[in-house]
Amino acid sequence: MNLKESLSSLLPNSNAAAEPETRTCKHCNTETDYDTLRANDMICPSCGMYFRMRAGERLDSVLDKGSFSEIDKNMKSTDPIAFPNYAQKLECAKKNTNLKEAVVCGTGKIDGIRCAIFVMDSAFMMGSMGTVVGEKITRLFEKALEMQLPVVGFITSGGARMQEGILSLMQMAKVSGAVKRHSEAGNFYLPVLTDPTTGGITASFAMQGDVILAEPKALIGFAGQRVIEQTTGEKLPAGFQRAEFLLEHGFVDMIEERPRLKYTLARLLRLHRKHDTLMRQERRKTV
Ligand SMILES: [Zn+2]
Repeated sequence: MNLKESLSSLLPNSNAAAEPETRTCKHCNTETDYDTLRANDMICPSCGMYFRMRAGERLDSVLDKGSFSEIDKNMKSTDPIAFPNYAQKLECAKKNTNLKEAVVCGTGKIDGIRCAIFVMDSAFMMGSMGTVVGEKITRLFEKALEMQLPVVGFITSGGARMQEGILSLMQMAKVSGAVKRHSEAGNFYLPVLTDPTTGGITASFAMQGDVILAEPKALIGFAGQRVIEQTTGEKLPAGFQRAEFLLEHGFVDMIEERPRLKYTLARLLRLHRKHDTLMRQERRKTV
């Protein structure tokens, strides 16, 4: 099965009638053919605005062809606290996105380097983190620990999923624990923050990477600007909570453009390859 076939179920509804062939840029209103956009890393060819990428599009853009193997594909959320209308919302999200939950996990290769990868999808309930999103990411880190693989994570989220109440907040601690165990065994974690990365995700695994990348102009923050202004009674500086502001203030290590992202990921993965690190440590000991 080639990557295109294996990812087809993760892409926007493959049903031609439901899939518009063009997309309109919110920034400059230019209408662009979908295939042209895909070939251009989902960047508006007219003004350079970044369209939000679906999980399948992202995997397709960064992984080597045919290398992706999905894990926990069929895990899906229940309605643990019987929240009004949640079950219907989940059904609706599943139907509209062709996904079972807001994150896709698996293993694959980036320029020949094997890694574990998770990609969140904001089209599924704004990429909010319920128990299944937390569980899938936790299991991925555990699998990566077992296989001694680095983890690459594409993050986009509106935060915790309020329809699962306290259970969604508990995911922050659960995923963080798995990240820590993976890290303590000397493995590399490389999150890429994309637009938008907010709420409980920013307060946990989005910021626990060894090297934190972000896409240009991505909104990254915990609480919304209006909430912060109302709480502190202060006017926030221009560009607050954008990737560039966070880079300047040390929360993000690097902003990378989409066309160079695969190359940068590969370079960072290569620099942090575990056996290379161990070899370097050994060499230092013997000198
Ligand atoms: Zn545009």
